[in-house]
Amino acid sequence: MSDPESPKTESIYRGIAVSPGVARGTIYVYRPHEDVIERRSVRDEDVSGEFVRLEQAVIKTRQQLIEIPQRLGKEMGDDKPGIFDAHLLVLDDPMLMEQVFKRLKTEKLNVEFILSEVADQYTQALARLEDTYLRERAADVRDVSRRILRNLMGAEHDELQRLPGPRIVLAADLSPSDTALMDRAKVLGFATEMGSRTSHTAILARSQGIPAVVGLHEIGRQIASGQEALLDGYTGLLIVNPTKQTLYEYGQIEIRWHSIEERLRQLRHEPACTRDGCAIRLGSNIELEEEVQMAIEHGAQGVGLYRTEFLFLNREGFPTEEEQFAAYRNVAVAMKPHEVIIRTLDVGGDKILHGSEHSREANPFLGWRGVRFCLDQPEMFKTQLRAILRASAEGNVKMMYPMISDLQEVKRANELLNICREELRREGKPFSDQMEVGLMIEVPSAAMIADVLAEHAAFFSIGTNDLVQYSMAVDRGNERVAHLYEPAHPAILRLIKNVVAAARARNIWVGVCGEMAGDPIMVPLLIGLGVNELSVSAVALPAVKYVIRSLTMPEAQSLAEQALRCGTAGEAVVLLEAFIRSAAPDLVELVKPEKSPQ
Ligand code: PEP
Ligand code: MG
Repeated sequence: MSDPESPKTESIYRGIAVSPGVARGTIYVYRPHEDVIERRSVRDEDVSGEFVRLEQAVIKTRQQLIEIPQRLGKEMGDDKPGIFDAHLLVLDDPMLMEQVFKRLKTEKLNVEFILSEVADQYTQALARLEDTYLRERAADVRDVSRRILRNLMGAEHDELQRLPGPRIVLAADLSPSDTALMDRAKVLGFATEMGSRTSHTAILARSQGIPAVVGLHEIGRQIASGQEALLDGYTGLLIVNPTKQTLYEYGQIEIRWHSIEERLRQLRHEPACTRDGCAIRLGSNIELEEEVQMAIEHGAQGVGLYRTEFLFLNREGFPTEEEQFAAYRNVAVAMKPHEVIIRTLDVGGDKILHGSEHSREANPFLGWRGVRFCLDQPEMFKTQLRAILRASAEGNVKMMYPMISDLQEVKRANELLNICREELRREGKPFSDQMEVGLMIEVPSAAMIADVLAEHAAFFSIGTNDLVQYSMAVDRGNERVAHLYEPAHPAILRLIKNVVAAARARNIWVGVCGEMAGDPIMVPLLIGLGVNELSVSAVALPAVKYVIRSLTMPEAQSLAEQALRCGTAGEAVVLLEAFIRSAAPDLVELVKPEKSPQ
């Protein structure tokens, strides 16, 4: 790597390619407000203005802390003092504010700076105490002071919506909520230090067609806003100050990529059938209502996974039934007569609700996530179930529950669903009685009891992103262990085989909606294992269809049998790559893109 001090020297940084495409442009280094709080002197006559600003921010904070739990529903804090009650206590604690007022008077600095310093000192002092209760209050003080700071400095993270022009965004990390908020017209691409291929931020970048590279360790400090760069989302490179030669070489490589992509796009209205005539259902995954058009343009024959949680992020409180109904109905109508599988809310893990207790979990992926969160908040859950049921009257809607780990969860969710059906019937609101209800199989316990669960499901959709993370104990968002994340691991193949066998025994169909389904080399394997449906991001659709059309079912089955006999993922990948090379040689360039310029 070249000397980062020398601004005009080309520097190449290697990360994980997560969303295809090449972006060229100026870098914008994104550091959320709280990290960089400016220190400014304030004139004597302006000090009283700082007091007023602080008072107004505190009033606004108080209103939010009272309103949010009301909107989130009562369950959140009925039997124990909720997080918001604890935050109100911090706000009423005279110590914190008195210190801020005192320092404001004597030091005459901007109030954000003083508040952040006082809160830091206070938090550190609490964290050192022996008393567990008081030690835990440190997190409350930090959360409340951040909320006041956000209210002082304007909307949180709205930087990404107000970029000075088209930019390549560089950040230590971006949450799925940050990514959903990005101004698509100005974000040319993004690069992060953290993250991996199946993190929701990466998934969202792919569905929005934003080139992205993640896992670029500790590059933030070496790169500044304003530097020119080229971001290669095909092979995972960030090239700062690219030379003319690099730009030229990339131009050539891009032309080739585009011509392959164009050839694949021509297949978009062809059926997803194997050479010997077996039809595979090929749907698209979407996160936002708007993405349905892109899915249709890429040839989707339905939506195999609609991740509804993005309706719930970046806002205070939950969306109303009408809001949800409108979004679900629009997608169902746009896709008609094809199916739309709406997944019930799957927040938690890396998808954090604004102001929720999720942010305090030590192991969020093992915590209050998906159907667990919903079953604990029946009123919120029922609002969504009612909206989905109502949308089922408008199109070919199916529904599935995420994160199922036990039969009891299915039964409890279905009880609530029945209550919603009764309510809607009484209210005279239409819905389809035939709406199929399926289960996501993404927790190993569910895969192991697939035979039991199959009796209670109209279909299974295997969520390999989570199934791999939970089976192999590899955090799907952690770039340090990304190399250990192996969808072709024998354990995963056996679990999938078990799920397919259980589904067949009950005559229900099985899909795969994790990122594994969008990887061309995995497609023959999944089909050979007996999967009936694949749901992938829109950009992956053409290549997946190409692969399906290049093989026969007996070939895929024999490949799957061989892969199941492999002892390691590495051995299986060698087989899968060899298969693609012979079945779909034209595609090899996309599967293993030519080496990028160095
Ligand atoms: C999965 O886990 O594979 C899946 C499709 O769901 P998500 O990526 O939203 O967790
Ligand atoms: Mg999942």
